[in-house]
Formats: sequence, C-alpha cells, structure tokens
Amino acid sequence: MEELKEAIRTRGIGIGMDVVKVDSFLNHRIDVDLSTKMGQAFREAFKGEDIDCILTVEASGIAVAITTAQAFGNVPVIFAKKGDHKNVGSDVYTADVFSFTHGTMNTVRVSRKYLPAGSRVLIIDDFLANGEAIEGLRSIVEQAGCTLVGAGVCVEKGFQPGGEKLRKEGVKVVSLAIVDAIEDGHVILRDD
Ligand code: 5GP
Repeated sequence: MEELKEAIRTRGIGIGMDVVKVDSFLNHRIDVDLSTKMGQAFREAFKGEDIDCILTVEASGIAVAITTAQAFGNVPVIFAKKGDHKNVGSDVYTADVFSFTHGTMNTVRVSRKYLPAGSRVLIIDDFLANGEAIEGLRSIVEQAGCTLVGAGVCVEKGFQPGGEKLRKEGVKVVSLAIVDAIEDGHVILRDD
C-alpha cells in the first residue's frame, strides 16, 4: 500500500538490526486517515469473504482493527487482553505469546462468550515479526471452534520468519508493506 510505504519511508526509523519505529503514525500517535485507508485495503484484500468479527491483541492492533471492522460494515472487534483482568473473568480462551518488543511471555485472554463457535474470524495486527502474536490468536480461534479467514498485518518484517511460517501452514497472510532490512537506521522496503 503506497501511502503506508511512504509514511514508513519518511517517518519510520530503524532501531538496531530488527526494530521498526513508527510511533508517529501507528504505535503511539495514530494517523486516523492512514488507519482508515489501511482498513479499506484489508477489506479489498479479503473481498468476497464473510467476516463475523475481527480479532487482534492489545494495544497497537486495536486502531487498525477498528477501521478494518468499519470497512466490513461495522463487525465487532475483539482484542485479546494481556494479563489477568478482573473484568475478563475466568471463562476464557488463553494462549501464551512471547512479546517481540517487550521480550516477555504474556498469557493473552479472550472471553469465550465473544467467540461463538462457527464464527468466521479475521486477525488484524500492526506488525508481523516471528509470528508469535498471530499464532497465539490463531490458537484461540481454533480453541473456539471458529474459522480463521486470514491475517492482515500493516507491516511485515520479511527478514523474520513469521510470515513464511504462517503461509506454509496455509494461513492467508496479507501485509500492506514489507520491510526487507534495517541498515544504519534506515528502513529498507521491498520493491523500493
Ligand atoms: P511477532 O509476534 O510476530 O513476533 O511480533 C509482532 C508483535 O510484536 C506485534 O504485535 C507488534 O506489536 C510487535 N512488533 C514486532 N516487531 C515490531 C517492530 O519492529 N516495531 C514495532 N513497533 N512493533 C513490533
């Protein structure tokens, strides 16, 4: 998606060898217009699919999950919660997810009542690196007896294995921009 790629070119910062910092429009301050267009791009990519709900994980996936849900006619958005919240309760599906950015293991939870068996679920997230977050959400979709329609990610880091692994496992993964490398603080995009 050209507009996202331009935002990464002009506002993205590479940290070390493997982290893309895009906090000015995706991870801290949110560019609402760009988020809306990313939602529409996911709608286009999964055109013709019936989607009952969008599933993401807190926190940075929520904004684009909402714009994607709007593009699909305001289907509900469910975000998996990290940690043991009193307001989620114990009737939950869980998955253990290693956080790439925090370097910690988190148990993520989704209340069973929000994922009725048979629902067709689209996973949306901001980044795809090693695939831990999406694998965790996928496990929750399977535990619930739902169908995974696919996974949409804003930025895939093509030099990390998550995308290839998920596609080999048969998951339809759509990424709106692919980063091939980080060199001296510069983010190198595929096809640039
Ligand atoms: P994975 O689970 O695929 O290893 O990593 C994806 C998750 O880690 C995303 O939910 C995202 O929040 C975070 N993440 C992974 N790599 C990056 C990155 O380079 N930049 C940012 N901002 N977040 C990342």
